[in-house]
Amino acid sequence: MARLVMKFGGTSVADLDRIRNVAAHVKREVDAGNEVAVVVSAMAGETNKLVGWCREASLLHDAREYDAVVSAGEQVTSGLLAIVLQSIGVNARSWQGWQVAILTDAAHGAARITGISCELLKERIAQGQVAVVAGFQGIAPDNRIATLGRGGSDTSAVALAAAIGADRCDIYTDVDGVYTTDPRVVPRARRLARVSYEEMLEMASQGAKVLQVRSVELAMVHGVRTFVRSSFDDPNAPQVGEGNLPPGTLICGEEEILENQVVTGIAYSKDEAQISIRRVADKPGVAAAVFVPLAEANINVDMIVQNVAGDGRTTDITFTVPAADYDRARKVIETAREAIGYAEIEGAINVVKVSVIGIGMRSHAGVAAACFRGLAERGINIRAITTSEIKISVLIDAAYAELAVRTLHSLYGLDAA
Ligand code: ASP
Ligand code: MG
Repeated sequence: MARLVMKFGGTSVADLDRIRNVAAHVKREVDAGNEVAVVVSAMAGETNKLVGWCREASLLHDAREYDAVVSAGEQVTSGLLAIVLQSIGVNARSWQGWQVAILTDAAHGAARITGISCELLKERIAQGQVAVVAGFQGIAPDNRIATLGRGGSDTSAVALAAAIGADRCDIYTDVDGVYTTDPRVVPRARRLARVSYEEMLEMASQGAKVLQVRSVELAMVHGVRTFVRSSFDDPNAPQVGEGNLPPGTLICGEEEILENQVVTGIAYSKDEAQISIRRVADKPGVAAAVFVPLAEANINVDMIVQNVAGDGRTTDITFTVPAADYDRARKVIETAREAIGYAEIEGAINVVKVSVIGIGMRSHAGVAAACFRGLAERGINIRAITTSEIKISVLIDAAYAELAVRTLHSLYGLDAA
């Protein structure tokens, strides 16, 4: 017997037929003697529709009322799934975020979970009742519903799994796991049987869209073993595969990963923009003069490169920001021109960040060199580089994105046979 959280995303609950299919997955686990809490998203497209209505009602809408509206999609699916479960003889009850209770901070629209007090829910699942929890929502200190940011029901699921001490959090989605890279770009991408929390965190924050980044952080911090699988599998197929699990990807601690590849995956993000400030006085305090105003404007800077300019006395500073913040970031730098003291500002939005990720990098030399040589052989120019212990990221022209991903994928031996 195990205690499980099963999370179903929007495409998995898109209509009543799919909800019936979800119910069959839940029934299988209940019949196997497991204690089950389910977390559901809104039906596909519902949240977008609700967000659209808020914008249409007023461009400058109150964040608390936005949350009252957009949290409604999950309320519907939690009730519907409970009804369908009951109709097939499974004891089930829906729970809204405030009923659990999932407590959040006050940042309406992008709230963080601060705690979960779920004594009653735990009691009920121990008695064999399935708890169907509305994802994406909790209750803020002002006693109003708060939502967790788009894609937030992944985070609800992992947080609940940590709170009830679940043996595993199963994320049922529209893909059958985490791949070495986007299979739409590289058809020979392989599904990973296992990936470490750290690698998954890098993949998610570098553009892989399988899980909300925050959910991976939580899984890592609390050691929640998280299994990504497809909800379109036959619910009654035998559960075989790796470690008695069906096809999918287990996100787990490094100690559970046996075969260690140097590189695990290649991620890419199109959501990047580059700004270069030319001929900045090379003296103490200039970096602060550039980056403090950006931070104050709440703009997230990612890659930073500083190098001595041609004249030997000044320096060039290049950095990247999310594409959506490009115009704002330029304005901030232009406003601070006096304080920074630079000759020119340039920018590019047609850029892409490609990242090579793998915990094996820690113990292998030459991984970055291979990346740079591989790109050079294809004539791909690198605009900026950043590295961490388990990641190398390069910023390149968007036109070369797919070529770069394909090149790196085969260079590190990730192509399927
Ligand atoms: N329904 C919410 C959204 O579309 C939350 C989720 O699906 O994870 O963002
Ligand atoms: Mg999602």
